[in-house]
Amino acid sequence: TSFSDLGLIEPLQRALAQDDYSQPTPIQAQAIPSLLEGRDLLGIAQTGTGKTAAFALPLLHRLAESRRRPAPRTVRLLVLAPTRELAVQIHDSFGRYGRHLRMSRATVMGGVGHAPQIRAIARGVDVLVATPGRLLDLMASGHVRFDALEAFVLDEADRMFDMGFLPALKRIVAALPAERQTLLFSATMPEAIKGLAQGLLRDPVQVSV
Ligand code: AMP
Repeated sequence: TSFSDLGLIEPLQRALAQDDYSQPTPIQAQAIPSLLEGRDLLGIAQTGTGKTAAFALPLLHRLAESRRRPAPRTVRLLVLAPTRELAVQIHDSFGRYGRHLRMSRATVMGGVGHAPQIRAIARGVDVLVATPGRLLDLMASGHVRFDALEAFVLDEADRMFDMGFLPALKRIVAALPAERQTLLFSATMPEAIKGLAQGLLRDPVQVSV
């Protein structure tokens, strides 16, 4: 499989060519076609397998195709990550793969000031990458809303669980619209994560690398 076989829109293919991505990795080849169709996905994969592009590329494609504009304080795609480091990496990847698209992005995470994050989402954002605690704060203060959410990614679900984020996660998920595309990635699949996946995903495609 090549990236052009996958049917990604030209601005994404151009970014990949400029970054010398000649071929999709196995998780990308397996996940991208189903994600482009709007399916939910359970991905069992470690970092280093190319999983960020496996979700960022098809979700950017779908956001670009649906051409909606986010209303003030709303988000079209939410990505939750367990750590600030991972959140920053994911945010940067969206910027890189989406550099030929007009897509707004913001990051929300602990340890930095609230004000710049509140400003960044005030007009609405296409892609929000967040860690759970700070996101809950901004939800509680009414600075972010999810009524127009199109897709939700839970990355490194097992680490999220180990770090004690399950209660926060449940409160965030309760605020998301039921009608959405959902992706869950985890390096391991203990019972707790299986249960979480069952509650979050609807008829998911399963990819394991
Ligand atoms: P990830 O597993 O998402 O952390 O990605 C691991 C690394 O692989 C990152 O540095 C990506 O830039 C790189 N990468 C992802 N997909 C490809 C690809 N198809 N070809 C070349 N490099 C890639």
